[in-house]
Amino acid sequence: MSAPQQMHQQTPADTLQPAAGNTALVLFSGGQDSATCLAWALSRYDRVETLGFDYGQRHAIELQVRKPLLAAMRTLKPEWRERLGDDHLLDLSVLGEVSDTALTRGTAIAMQANGLPNTFVPGRNLLFLTLAAALAYRRGLTVLVGGMCETDYSGYPDCRHGTLQALQSALQLGMANDVTIATPLMWLDKAATWALAEELGGTSLVELIRSDTHTCYLGERGALHDWGHGCGHCPACELRAKGYREYRARQAA
Ligand code: ZN
Repeated sequence: MSAPQQMHQQTPADTLQPAAGNTALVLFSGGQDSATCLAWALSRYDRVETLGFDYGQRHAIELQVRKPLLAAMRTLKPEWRERLGDDHLLDLSVLGEVSDTALTRGTAIAMQANGLPNTFVPGRNLLFLTLAAALAYRRGLTVLVGGMCETDYSGYPDCRHGTLQALQSALQLGMANDVTIATPLMWLDKAATWALAEELGGTSLVELIRSDTHTCYLGERGALHDWGHGCGHCPACELRAKGYREYRARQAA
């Protein structure tokens, strides 16, 4: 077995990175961020499994791109093929029953009085990570990897570093183990997330993420833009397009 722990370099991007534990469960939605997180995990853990959630999201196209993406990730590097294990999909349709948001209903995306867009699904990441921890417990996986980020984001409070630190403490207490949460994108802007993908998997990973991941809230695939597929107007598309263009501009500089 190789020792991916030795490859780990402490950066501001992974403050929550654990000291021990050579296996990981990646929250893998099929979007740009989670695909980058998967590459990050495959570059440092001996065994990596993936988890997706079906919560009646409008952009259910995400769920369709997951399997082909996983298959393609396996072809990028021999060690990635070796390390990438089972994929899990959990039905979380109850989330659509308890929340009324633009991600689970047909309503237009808009800013709310509390300063959060109505794409915010309250408690989504808390639920995702709690279920991930329960699955990781059963599967013997010690690190939960998520693409949460508070640099270039929509202001979701459950993406913040402080929230995830508190949740990690609660999970460790509640499960009586040393499960940890790693968030490699936490302090990166979207352009830096593209650059991280290039660093981890070269231009073939960047191209795979550009053409095969899905981020658009409206679930539009349509034409392939320079930054990928999507409507081009929703907050997720705007962030993705802006990040991609900044990444290209930084490359050219
Ligand atoms: Zn869009």
